[in-house]
Amino acid sequence: QLASLSSQHIVDYRKEHLGKNMSISYREPIKMVRGNGVHLLDDAGRRYLDTVNNVAHVGHEHPRVVRAGQRQMAVLNTNTRYLHDNIVKFVEAMLETMPPPLNVAFIVNSGSEANELGMRLARNYTGQKDMIVSEVGYHGNTGGCIEISSYKFDGAGGKGAAPHVHVVPIPDVYRGLYRAGDPHVASHYAGHVKQAIANMQAQGRNPAAFIFESVISCGGQVELPENFLKQAYQHVREAGGVCLADEVQTGCGRAGDHFWAFQQHDVVPDIVTIGKPIGNGHPLAVVVTTQAIADAFKNGMEYFNTFGGNPVSCAIGLEVLKVIKDEGLQQNAKLVGNYLKAGLRDLMDRFPIVGDVRGPGLFIGFELVKDRDTKAPATEQASYFANRMRDKGILMSTDGPFNNVLKIKPPLVFSSSNADFLLDAIAAVLREDVMHVQ
Ligand code: PMP
Repeated sequence: QLASLSSQHIVDYRKEHLGKNMSISYREPIKMVRGNGVHLLDDAGRRYLDTVNNVAHVGHEHPRVVRAGQRQMAVLNTNTRYLHDNIVKFVEAMLETMPPPLNVAFIVNSGSEANELGMRLARNYTGQKDMIVSEVGYHGNTGGCIEISSYKFDGAGGKGAAPHVHVVPIPDVYRGLYRAGDPHVASHYAGHVKQAIANMQAQGRNPAAFIFESVISCGGQVELPENFLKQAYQHVREAGGVCLADEVQTGCGRAGDHFWAFQQHDVVPDIVTIGKPIGNGHPLAVVVTTQAIADAFKNGMEYFNTFGGNPVSCAIGLEVLKVIKDEGLQQNAKLVGNYLKAGLRDLMDRFPIVGDVRGPGLFIGFELVKDRDTKAPATEQASYFANRMRDKGILMSTDGPFNNVLKIKPPLVFSSSNADFLLDAIAAVLREDVMHVQ
């Protein structure tokens, strides 16, 4: 199917008439016209293996999800003030995945909206305003979310942390403040959470919430050290704060061993926010919390959300959860993820530019460095790498504070033969002269 507008026309139009600070992927932009499973097709009919899309969770345009949405769209779509089966069926299926006492849901339309509501719930419950956040964390695009996103307020165009926002060092055991090999790495990092609490208490305040991803995405696919979350949660709870797990990127089986990545750390948050994957591309997000926090929020002011929880969104969300189960996608994330990581570690042994390989399930990052001892980020090589992969028909992108981490978070239908194809292409690009750093 050839679309009618030229790529140049679209680029020019966007520059003039769309938000001026929206970016476009790749030096030569791609015009996508179709998605199918782990692949996207461009307007010239070229097929790309998509390794960066954790939104098309069960695969691009999954037929069952498409059908569920289409069928409900043709019958009824309205707000939650009427009774409907779909909202109950979806929430039941969602809550089944959660450990107790997480058993109340709010349905919203985006990850940002989920975190915004999560923050309101926390602040309402605790009567406090202060937030503890990770360095280079990202939680969304609303005013409130930007305030808790160091990735933004500490980055270009940012204005630094607001007085009620306390940034703790990213618990990155590869290049962070405390590193692998230190037996107290978790308590050192958690000690900064304790310190942040002491700082606010010195000013007569206590935390409303500690918000953290269970694997830090924009910060460069950073796995938290074992016991860090456990200790951090304890410090926060001792001070009366609540713990919010942002599972927008990491949730719904992607982490492999567990349905939610926080479960890997043997903690139970007070609030969980879920976004991207749950709608498989449809704008759908969820906040799950406890009866106590939800009860406190029922303070006389109605919570209304025009689109949140409508029958179409709920039909889609329910179908996504069913497909994950029916197709064994959590198990696939674990198996293919481990296979891919083993292949990447093999490449790390052969190519000094690969400094680290990490991440659970199909939420992987590998970091490019100019020198393994200094860990100087190979930022230009990472950008070159992503563009070369595109030449080879593979979509891949960079992240992390130095943009030197290649991330792999494909639709969970990613197979071991997709992994072989990817590993061959990675090896081929690593062999190129530009990638020889030592
Ligand atoms: N939390 C995390 C961890 C995210 O990565 C994002 C989006 N990249 C959001 C929240 C915000 O989600 P959305 O873009 O759907 O508003």
